Amino acid sequence: MPTSLMFFTLISCLLALGQASLPLVINTWSFKNATAAAWAVLQSGGSVLDAVEAGCDCCQKEQCDGSVGYGGSPDESGETTLDAMIMNGNTMEVGAVADLRRIKNAIGVARAVMERTEHTMLVAESATVFAENMGFIAEDLTTVKSLNIFTQWLKGNCQPNYRKNVCPNPSESCPPYKPQGKLGPKKHLPTNIHSHDTIGMIAFDQYGHVAAGTSTNGRTHKVPGRVGDSPIVGAGAYADSSAGAAAATGDGDIMMRFLPSYLAVELMRAGTDPSAACKMAISRIKRHYVGFFGAIICANTTGHYGAACNKVPGFLQFHYMVSNGESDEPLLKSVDCF
Ligand code: ASP
Repeated sequence: MPTSLMFFTLISCLLALGQASLPLVINTWSFKNATAAAWAVLQSGGSVLDAVEAGCDCCQKEQCDGSVGYGGSPDESGETTLDAMIMNGNTMEVGAVADLRRIKNAIGVARAVMERTEHTMLVAESATVFAENMGFIAEDLTTVKSLNIFTQWLKGNCQPNYRKNVCPNPSESCPPYKPQGKLGPKKHLPTNIHSHDTIGMIAFDQYGHVAAGTSTNGRTHKVPGRVGDSPIVGAGAYADSSAGAAAATGDGDIMMRFLPSYLAVELMRAGTDPSAACKMAISRIKRHYVGFFGAIICANTTGHYGAACNKVPGFLQFHYMVSNGESDEPLLKSVDCF
């Protein structure tokens, strides 16, 4: 290979891998203020858990893309419910909440589950009661915007929805439904790529200690009680300070069947670089669901990072944010989906 080509290849590889440096904050989508919030915590001596909590809470407060926090993704009954998770990669402790109702700070409650109980996950009304006992304020998560989304959906005969094998025909009518006698052929409706965008965040300190977290309001018009991948350990996120961390976003109903974050971390443990680990985690899902909507970010203990996404119409590139001291501002990165 000519020297100039070798040089070009080396530079391309370095760019693809990203600059390796610790500390590091990396998160899904272009949620820049969340990255900056987490980075500021690390810079002021806070722990990686504090950083992840602050970063995800920033998105919860800003209602990032309408997909994180209150007032987004109303379910079939019009209610916004939240899923969140936080994982300590040193101790392998995890706290998670799913189908959390009437509490805005889902990542805060997830952390309280981890630090103030021996459990890993609390759900629904009981999670709300726990949160109130821990000092979180219960309030309505509905906003004018979410009410409007819900009203429009009702007016449009409740389309789209996630029901199948029920009557009346769910592609024409609203709930309530009853089971239909015969099961139809397996099919998965194409995901509306604009109807969700979880924040998944990874933070490493200078010693390689890592934490990961997620926060989302799930999928618009979901069946009440639906829980996605985000609060599920190994699916929405995973962190292990002896290997690395990963966080996923996308069609959680599909993605949670493959534990992509766990898979990516285990691949990095075995020496796979983060970009390749991310790609392999996506490929595993693709084998079964070619058209699924999803992306994942990965980072290892040396501060190398990468991302990957599944190419579907309208989703050709995935954006994510990085702070590692390379620049004063969080950097917007992108990866071409494959
Ligand atoms: N994964 C989330 C869920 O399915 C949504 C998203 O990341 O876009 O609940």
